[in-house]
Amino acid sequence: MAGKRKASASEDSDAPQKSAKTEDAQVPEYLVAGARQFGFMLRGLKLMQPKLEALNIPFFMVKGDPIKTIPDLCKKLKAGCLVTDFASLRLGREWRDEIAKKIDIPFDEVDAHNVIPCWIASDKREYGARTIRSKIHKKLPEFLHEFPKLEKQPKWDSKVKPDKVNWDAEIKAALEKGKEVPEVTWVKPGEDEAMKMLNGKDGFLSSDRLKKFSKHRNDPNQPEALSNLSPYYHFGHLAAQRAALEASKLRSKAKEDVDAFLEESVVRRELSDNYCFYVPNYDSIDACYDWAKESLNKHRDDPRENVYTLEELEKGETHDELWNASQKEMVHTGKMHGFMRMYWAKKILEWTNSPEEAIEFGIYLNDKWELDGRDANGYVGVMWSMGGIHDQGWSERAIFGKVRYMNEKGCRRKFKVDEYIELIKERLKKPA
Ligand SMILES: Cc1cc2nc3c(=O)[nH]c(=O)nc-3n(C[C@H](O)[C@H](O)[C@H](O)COP(=O)(O)OP(=O)(O)OC[C@H]3O[C@@H](n4cnc5c(N)ncnc54)[C@H](O)[C@@H]3O)c2cc1C
Repeated sequence: MAGKRKASASEDSDAPQKSAKTEDAQVPEYLVAGARQFGFMLRGLKLMQPKLEALNIPFFMVKGDPIKTIPDLCKKLKAGCLVTDFASLRLGREWRDEIAKKIDIPFDEVDAHNVIPCWIASDKREYGARTIRSKIHKKLPEFLHEFPKLEKQPKWDSKVKPDKVNWDAEIKAALEKGKEVPEVTWVKPGEDEAMKMLNGKDGFLSSDRLKKFSKHRNDPNQPEALSNLSPYYHFGHLAAQRAALEASKLRSKAKEDVDAFLEESVVRRELSDNYCFYVPNYDSIDACYDWAKESLNKHRDDPRENVYTLEELEKGETHDELWNASQKEMVHTGKMHGFMRMYWAKKILEWTNSPEEAIEFGIYLNDKWELDGRDANGYVGVMWSMGGIHDQGWSERAIFGKVRYMNEKGCRRKFKVDEYIELIKERLKKPA
């Protein structure tokens, strides 16, 4: 069951905007997305179009500034209402707010992105997983249901028909424009591929991979223990609800693993949307809790043993081989292992001039190179690592203040660091 609410001017409409040049652009720019991300999105849409048409649902592709093109399309179609999916990030919220001001038909927002609609899961910023977990679990019986079957619609009888989309040209233009960040092929776009990744042959749920999730998901040498579903969730090729429904069916066989998977893909993921939705300056140190802000400020002038430029970081040219391996993993494959993302972000805090610079570099690199980047999970990941969001204070130390610290020694206690560095070296020799 999806939750619906009026999509009107909302809490964070005054928030500053990040880069999005959509006016007149052939291929819109969106938060440093490149060929990797636009290619995945467009190829997924191309695969969706015939599925919709088989149900008599026409597919209109409009390009350019959505604040202009969506109201124009509504007018052209003489639409009776407009329905949008939920977005927790500023840019998506601003688009919805501005569109709401320009149309005079009902405009509803449906959260199909989460299992429990964000505003129903909680009506306020949650402190952490421990405060939102019980709220989510209490509401799961109401919302975690099978989707209604899609019925074939009556034939589209409007005089306004969609223009034919030249997919090849669209994809070619996107790939050319974003070529600095090339596509990857190990994860293929579209609903069918997402379902294969979930429970096809060797899929996450249908192989022995699920049974590794609770014990081995933090071991970068066992990447098969992870689901690889985040790009599908991000681009809407797979609903987190579908994955949760399928995983729940396996609880009697692998209770601990299913519960751990639901903790990540429902509780933690919805906590990320909760943070971004209720905290408009979600990527600023001002959004941190007082204990973190105060101690980061107290230590902002601490001497740094190593300071790297954005370029050095981007190229993976630091003194730390482990860090370089994870950076190169992300650049080459579009996916850094989840455990390494924490270490990676914390080292950026240690090796830059200020927490502000660290947050800026971390978000930039994450959004540019991760296929699942530009997502609430990414902003929370960076802010958890660098600003203690959803975490607690730890013993105070240089630069980090009370924000949780991680070092290579700790990694060595958890997993075979040299094996991971070798694994990535081998991975870099193969096409992504
Ligand atoms: C610095 C940093 C940056 C990150 N950037 C992103 C990002 O840009 N996009 C993104 O989707 N995730 C991000 N994460 C969260 C997490 O690392 C990824 O979701 C996960 O690695 C994706 O791989 P997977 O699908 O195989 O995950 P699995 O481990 O199989 O988990 C299943 C799903 O649970 C959710 N999930 C897992 N870990 C987290 C988490 N810590 N917080 C919230 N949800 C989680 C994801 O939706 C994921 O697809 C980041 C974490 C950190 C620390």
